[in-house]
Amino acid sequence: MRCPYLDCKADIAGGRTRCQKCERQLKICRKCATSNRVFAVHCRECGTPLPDSDADWPMFKQSAQGLGVNRFVITKKFPEIRPEHEENFRLPDRCKSLLVYDNYLFAISQGGEVKVVDISQVPFKELTSFNVGGKVYSVPALNHGSLYIGAEKSLQAYSLGKLFSDTSAVEPRWTVPVNATPIRSLLPVENRLLFTLAYPDRHHEICMISDIETDHPGSPATLHSGSHLSSMAAHFTAKNKKVYFFSANGSEEVELHCIDNITGSDAELVTLPVKKAPSKFRKVIPIAIIGASLFVVFKKDETLCRVDAATGEINALLCKNVQDFVMAGITEPIVNNSKGLFFKRINRQAEFQSGQKIRGNPLVLKDFAVIVGMGDGNVHLYDIRNPEMPAVWDVSDHPTDQITALAASRNILMAGNDKGLVKICRL
Ligand SMILES: [Zn+2]
Ligand SMILES: [Zn+2]
Repeated sequence: MRCPYLDCKADIAGGRTRCQKCERQLKICRKCATSNRVFAVHCRECGTPLPDSDADWPMFKQSAQGLGVNRFVITKKFPEIRPEHEENFRLPDRCKSLLVYDNYLFAISQGGEVKVVDISQVPFKELTSFNVGGKVYSVPALNHGSLYIGAEKSLQAYSLGKLFSDTSAVEPRWTVPVNATPIRSLLPVENRLLFTLAYPDRHHEICMISDIETDHPGSPATLHSGSHLSSMAAHFTAKNKKVYFFSANGSEEVELHCIDNITGSDAELVTLPVKKAPSKFRKVIPIAIIGASLFVVFKKDETLCRVDAATGEINALLCKNVQDFVMAGITEPIVNNSKGLFFKRINRQAEFQSGQKIRGNPLVLKDFAVIVGMGDGNVHLYDIRNPEMPAVWDVSDHPTDQITALAASRNILMAGNDKGLVKICRL
């Protein structure tokens, strides 16, 4: 059998899920065992539907859980960790998001420019670029062979099936108009797309479109409306897919909402009071979920709390002065802290003073390193066990530039900044 990527075409042994020559991911058809490219949704030989791949960084903070943890295990150890084989390219304006799926980097600017780059080789190869025709305030998502983007007043879907074929084009699939601005992050769940709309009067709505994998998606349906809504986080098991978000009303009563069985015909919205909530939550800090625990930052003392997803009860106050966080484990938040402390693993009592402001969301390489965008425009890599001696990745020469996006795929790190610079390195 031949590798399905036209620039490789190596002979590949049957059953392999990665080409041994170009190292790209292969989707093997269950019926006829043909290998297909990573964004294929149907087998190129027999047309059988193919399941989605196990992607690396397809949406905000790596996944619908919002954890910011890359699962790939890097075998190098500190202090041998060094950013190597640096490369870069530029977007025309502020880098809004970096998504990476196997070896393909999607860089999206706030002005709506999308660049698709094959990072499987050094130097990387730019495959295509296009503009979505409006500003992008939400984080796009990659799901089952499509790229979903929320631009001003519209949601758009693009097919990626032709990437790495002879044309390498990204093909528009559909556009659904919306009468407000999509913000935060898009959340595709199988054939449905959830998103948050911001209206000029400052009220927000959590909405859903059905049939997104067809050419005729449904109209947006509003699931919840309010002035104080959190981001969404989702927990997927084989039997059930649940989406969670918080809301608060004028009297500061906080509620937890769960859309149960979201892909089923019997999807239902369940609402629970969050008893003894210390205050409203900070809606600009995204929530996260691990198993049956939700993580949310309340305004009072900027406290990161753990909430039982089944009962809505607060069952732990994890730390205070939290500006942003990632979760390395259920009791192990790594936080940006307003006092300049920047990370804290509860179990190990490790606290560390960065000495400068943190920009953007931190990320974690599984159980090993914390990657943080610093106030001087560069990125620091900290040993999770011994943070005193970070590896420094010089992203920009200008100390006023700000890191706006970080992502990781296997041993490849990517950083984008507010001047549109996107830098790639290998560890
Ligand atoms: Zn190959
Ligand atoms: Zn097949």
